[in-house]
Amino acid sequence: MVSLFDIRRRFKGTIKLGEPLANYASLGIGGPADYLFAPSSREDCVNVVTHLRESAIPFLFVGRGSNLLVSDPGYRGAMIMLEPGFSGLRLERTTADEALVHAAAGARLARLVDFCIEHALQGVETLAGIPGTVGGLVIAGGPRAIRLPDGCLAQAELLRDAEVIVTKDPEKFSYRRSGVGRDVVLGATFHCVRGNRERLMRLRRQLLIRRNMERPLNVANAGFMFRDAERKEAAGLVREAGMQGFRQGAAAVSERHANMLLNLGNATAADALNLIRWVQRAVREKSGIQLALAIRLAGFEEEPMREVA
Ligand SMILES: Cc1cc2nc3c(=O)[nH]c(=O)nc-3n(C[C@H](O)[C@H](O)[C@H](O)COP(=O)(O)OP(=O)(O)OC[C@H]3O[C@@H](n4cnc5c(N)ncnc54)[C@H](O)[C@@H]3O)c2cc1C
Repeated sequence: MVSLFDIRRRFKGTIKLGEPLANYASLGIGGPADYLFAPSSREDCVNVVTHLRESAIPFLFVGRGSNLLVSDPGYRGAMIMLEPGFSGLRLERTTADEALVHAAAGARLARLVDFCIEHALQGVETLAGIPGTVGGLVIAGGPRAIRLPDGCLAQAELLRDAEVIVTKDPEKFSYRRSGVGRDVVLGATFHCVRGNRERLMRLRRQLLIRRNMERPLNVANAGFMFRDAERKEAAGLVREAGMQGFRQGAAAVSERHANMLLNLGNATAADALNLIRWVQRAVREKSGIQLALAIRLAGFEEEPMREVA
């Protein structure tokens, strides 16, 4: 067992016990985590991770919880939240034509977009309307999915074991592939070029309108269930398999976007996981394609994706 006393001595942020993860996941599903840590700074974050690793306590980072399905019994270990304590943005190396923008992992993508537009910097505006954090973006391998310009995500800072490393390897950021494995994302640097503030504001507004029209509003949801496969959009494959609108308990496939998982009210994680398995199976039977998960699972026993009967 982790000694809270030991951790408390090193930790300056907030600690909570038995906090329901449903409150921290956009799907509104999930039992409690044994511990919740909200570090107050980068140093605090590195300290707590080091201590948890030394004590062999499993831990899970949660950004906005916008791509996360947590099990009904919850997570046996510690959940670490970086917002608001570790979510700063700063300009680095600016010239007349370009700038580097550093974002701590807990920074919301919406704040990053606003910050860059305020400084008339172009590059990240395509993230407008995506509800995650910078840490979640790097883990999701989002840049290609969200079509950031090549080279815009210039580098990521990772905590690997006890060492902080900086990687510029673009392979780490390929589509929906967690190139960073079990590393912790501490921050990222974005390379932006000078743009026109009014034009960027217009683009942001258009994207927000488009994304809000495409997606279910006012219903708890968890973003995309599956990765695209074999150059086909997962949403199209789900539609072709006749699974749009499919329900299991109160979990449903969105009628607006066939790759989106909804919680219509009181869905359980078991409902959601069953739904995912049935959709996977229907797609495989229809098109021969095995869809891989985009959504991250937490707190499930081994092999949660075993076949439905
Ligand atoms: C309405 C809606 C629309 C969406 N639209 C899009 C879209 O257009 N394109 C797209 O790509 N995605 C989209 N998503 C999915 C989601 O917003 C992105 O995947 C986002 O990058 C996830 O960020 P997050 O902070 O919410 O991550 P979370 O859901 O909190 O976490 C996701 C995974 O990242 C890990 N993680 C988070 N932070 C860290 C860290 N600092 N270090 C290590 N691991 C970490 C978590 O442990 C978990 O495994 C959408 C989601 C919703 C709800």
